[in-house]
Formats: sequence, C-alpha cells, structure tokens
Amino acid sequence: MFEDETIDIACPKCGFKNSLLVREIEQQSETHIVCQGCKVGVKVEASEFQHRLNEINEEVEAMQVEARQGKNPKPRKGDFQI
Ligand SMILES: [Zn+2]
Repeated sequence: MFEDETIDIACPKCGFKNSLLVREIEQQSETHIVCQGCKVGVKVEASEFQHRLNEINEEVEAMQVEARQGKNPKPRKGDFQI
C-alpha cells in the first residue's frame, strides 16, 4: 500500500541509494537523512520528488477504484447464466 512505498535517494557524494519511505518525505518539506554508504548528511526536499509522489498517488487512486469495482462488480459479457 501507499504507506509502504519507498523512494531511492541517491547520495550526492557516494551515489549510494538510500531507501526512504514516501510518508516520511511527504510529512515535511525537507527531510534530513544520513547516507548509509558514507554517513554524510543528505537533505531531501519533498518538492524534488513531487512528480514521483504524484505518480504514486495516481497508482493508489487507481487501486482504490479497482477495489470499489470489486465490491460492486458490473456484469460482464460471458457472466450471464441462463
Ligand atoms: Zn553517501
């Protein structure tokens, strides 16, 4: 689900990809992490990932629509019984 979506943040110094939870980034405009590769402090700005966050939101919305449709399935061709 959405809460478990992660984004890889490439360290500007060593290039190590640090996985961050989307919800941690979204909660504030800036997130400070420590690179797991070289231990340098990295500032993550949510605005830089707004595009990716929007994509994730759209994915979640699409899943929610599917879930709703699953509860109230519309009859499809071939489903009719005589
Ligand atoms: Zn690093």
